[in-house]
Amino acid sequence: MNWRIPLADIDFGPEETAAVQSILEKRWLTMGEVTQEFEQAVADFIGARHTIAVTNATAALHMACLAAGIHPGDEVIVPSLTFVATSNTVLYAGGIPVFADITSTLDLNISPESIEKNITPRTRAVIVVHYGGYACDMPAITDIARRHNLRLIEDAAHAIGSEADGKKLGNASDIGCYSFFSNKNMTTAEGGMLVTNDDGLAKQLRLLRSHGMTSLTWDRHQGHAWDYDVVALGYNYRIDEIRSAIGLAQFKKLPANNERRRFLSQRYRDLIHELTPDVEIPFENHRGVSAAHLMPVLLPKGIQRNQIMEGMKSRGIQTSHHYPPIHHFTAYKNNPAIPHKDLPVTDEVALREVTLPLYPGMKDEDVNIVVEALQGAIADSRK
Ligand SMILES: *Cc1c(COP(=O)(O)O)cnc(C)c1O
Repeated sequence: MNWRIPLADIDFGPEETAAVQSILEKRWLTMGEVTQEFEQAVADFIGARHTIAVTNATAALHMACLAAGIHPGDEVIVPSLTFVATSNTVLYAGGIPVFADITSTLDLNISPESIEKNITPRTRAVIVVHYGGYACDMPAITDIARRHNLRLIEDAAHAIGSEADGKKLGNASDIGCYSFFSNKNMTTAEGGMLVTNDDGLAKQLRLLRSHGMTSLTWDRHQGHAWDYDVVALGYNYRIDEIRSAIGLAQFKKLPANNERRRFLSQRYRDLIHELTPDVEIPFENHRGVSAAHLMPVLLPKGIQRNQIMEGMKSRGIQTSHHYPPIHHFTAYKNNPAIPHKDLPVTDEVALREVTLPLYPGMKDEDVNIVVEALQGAIADSRK
């Protein structure tokens, strides 16, 4: 499909090409100096003690669950209005995802009250997702986690560069996980990074990343180690130097690109208020500074979302839907271990939400085109 305005677009230029070429010429291809430099750059930016680059955020979340001590039968409270990786990784570790509701139609993040209501003697951890880069209520959730002795993990796939309550998101819990998948705010094609300030967790995460081995190929190449032991059941979740080099190039552009996303989001809000005031806009009163990964809106009640998305498509505009709630997926409904939950706010948002195009290369005028198309599609659906 040749969209007039796509949902998302990458910002790649000569910097990324040069970054890849430099690695090919250096001839050291996996986890080495460039990966360390990438990890250090992110650690410095977010003020974290440890960052561990990995092959994708799904691997990062899996490792986070293992390091957080999720064992078979342990319950982990998660939102349902998120990408399925958030809860799949709990299942990988043998845990049971317990779905909590979101706060409201204006705050699509997991509700602290719903978290508290779902705590049982088997609850071991909470995974929060900063939807669209907008901060969860971390002070309230951190307090709940402390009182109930739960590990707190952030799925910060949308939130690199976001901050709230004096902390960078991804660095506001025991372990944070960033994604560098192709449609995220910065990308390495596939990639992810773990964040922690706990030396013990960092040590475990580094072991899990590479087969539980006590030394890495790079250390041996450097002459630091001859031999190794295997001290845990680990995985191959490593990143490579090519992707780390792309990551460094992308990371340099992140502050300006996030600023541009925030500007475009505000332009969307102003125009929607003016042209289609019955469309609801979540997160208008969000905490802190958002990475503005997504531009979600809620259609007026009673309107068929598919009809609007078709109407936008016929006008050359790609939209999406974040997210089909996980608790309705067949694999989840058919899993007898997962407790059934009624999530009325999640269900309402799931019916009404449409995600509008948002990427740094979007022109100011493109926002007008999208909002006018939305106005037109809604008017058509009422004919
Ligand atoms: C993209 C995404 C993931 C998975 O990230 P990958 O790097 O593709 O594994 C997990 N959670 C959320 C909320 C995401 O948007």
